[in-house]
Amino acid sequence: MMIQGKHECEECSKAFEWYYLVPQHIDSPSFQAHFIPQNKTSIKQVIQQDEKRLPIKASIHCPKCDKLNIFKVETDGSH
Ligand SMILES: [Zn+2]
Repeated sequence: MMIQGKHECEECSKAFEWYYLVPQHIDSPSFQAHFIPQNKTSIKQVIQQDEKRLPIKASIHCPKCDKLNIFKVETDGSH
């Protein structure tokens, strides 16, 4: 599944949208392909995740200034 959200860069204060594809078991009934959003930034690395493999803390490069942000993941409310 894919989660998405918004983050404001700690360096340049520009808000940008991000996405992350949550790794799933290949035999999971809910497994499906997703389109990669062209206008969104992929999370670089998950630093901390919960038992459902949903990220809690992650790093991402700001698309505006390339600053590496470490941020607490808050999704749009899919869970
Ligand atoms: Zn920035």
